[in-house]
Amino acid sequence: MYVQDTIVAPATPPGAGAVAIIRLSGPAAIEILRSIWRPARADVLKPRHLYIGDIRDPSTGAAVDRALAVVMPAPRSLTGEDVAEVHCHGGPFLVRRILGLAKGCGARMAEAGEFSRRAFLNGRIDLTAAEAVADLVAARGESALTQALSHLSGALKERVAGLRERLIAIAAHLEAEIDFSDEDIALPSREEIAHRIAALRQDIAMLHDSFARGWLMRTGARAAIIGKPNAGKSSVLNLLLGVERAIVTPIPGTTRDVIEDTIHVGAYPLVIQDTAGLRSGADQIERIGIERTLAHAEEADVLIAVFDSSTALTSEDLRVIELCRGRTGVALLNKSDLPWAIDAIDLRAQGLAMPALRVSALRGDGFDALRQELAAMVDALAGGNRGDTVAISRERHRDALARALVALESAHRSTLCAMPPEIVAVDIGIAADALASISGQVTSEDVLDAIFREFCIGK
Ligand code: GDP
Repeated sequence: MYVQDTIVAPATPPGAGAVAIIRLSGPAAIEILRSIWRPARADVLKPRHLYIGDIRDPSTGAAVDRALAVVMPAPRSLTGEDVAEVHCHGGPFLVRRILGLAKGCGARMAEAGEFSRRAFLNGRIDLTAAEAVADLVAARGESALTQALSHLSGALKERVAGLRERLIAIAAHLEAEIDFSDEDIALPSREEIAHRIAALRQDIAMLHDSFARGWLMRTGARAAIIGKPNAGKSSVLNLLLGVERAIVTPIPGTTRDVIEDTIHVGAYPLVIQDTAGLRSGADQIERIGIERTLAHAEEADVLIAVFDSSTALTSEDLRVIELCRGRTGVALLNKSDLPWAIDAIDLRAQGLAMPALRVSALRGDGFDALRQELAAMVDALAGGNRGDTVAISRERHRDALARALVALESAHRSTLCAMPPEIVAVDIGIAADALASISGQVTSEDVLDAIFREFCIGK
């Protein structure tokens, strides 16, 4: 339910900074601003102009801060309501104090995502744009940024709207067939309708299948580096990241927790995790680390299995090979600068099916080949690079398209079996509603709750 009260929240993150922004939205936003802040000179506040002034406690008149403020009256504002912003000095106590003053004048603390939710409910943005704002803020790299900006500019919304228009055109023909079946007017044949439904299904399926790519662009793929202690896992991570992120020592069992950071391979981010070495006889803390290793290895999209090629395979290496069974990944025969004790054939003989590369994390040998191999693997996870610029990025989009596909499958069958047009029209309607739910033209409170819960306070 949308209660039109006035909400307030900091728009900047918690902690100290040069400036903090406190945002008010709702019918009393400008009046509340006027109660706690006075402009130094101007009497009339022009919309979207910044003014310098003083924040005072209205109950005592005590000075609190010197701050800039701006008003953005409805409907041309972020939320479509009256919006006021205070740009104050960025101290956490100061921010709490000013929030307290605003609340004392009748504002309520905003819930997570409430500003964006109001923007959506007032028709300022559609759901794909609201999600894109969240993605922009969370972007970890170039691909996430590119995709979020494309969705923010309406690329996904327009693609889906185009598909929906084609559905509505089919529905219109079916309606005409229902209404004017006795009259002598030219309507598309059943074959023609079936053909159009099939073509639409293909285009919706293509967008549906872009999920792997869109998801990877947004969140990146996950790679876990696994191997026995001292194989060189931390050295491999540091070299891939180009920084000393993990501690490298000759003492086995140094990495006890999971360390992660992001690199870019090809078009996608790859979140790489260095894990505790897999060894038996470890102490309790190390054992917890090993359990986390197993969990991360299970969740990872790609495994980077590191072996010390200067020593013979041990039972710990065989456990690593076991973890790699049926998985996507690459084996590294590390320490290639030292005399070799094992090679790729030995790994294969033990059942390892992944490609194996000779590398030296000490010298950097073989790392270009490793980056290329990782890029190819992540590209394959994304279903190859199809060159299509629009991709869906959330399970919500994929599930809506899947619902549309099921309905169209049924509509296609009914058309070919010469079922009455009313029956086909029902399925076409279900498909059209499923598509409309992506931008939020058709939606429920529960869906909105789920979407905006992901947002932070003040967004
Ligand atoms: P981890 O326990 O698997 O994370 O292994 P580390 O990265 O901590 O490395 C263990 C030891 O092996 C350290 O002394 C590293 O300097 C050494 N090391 C790692 N990679 C190489 C390599 O390619 N060649 C040689 N000669 N030593 C290496």
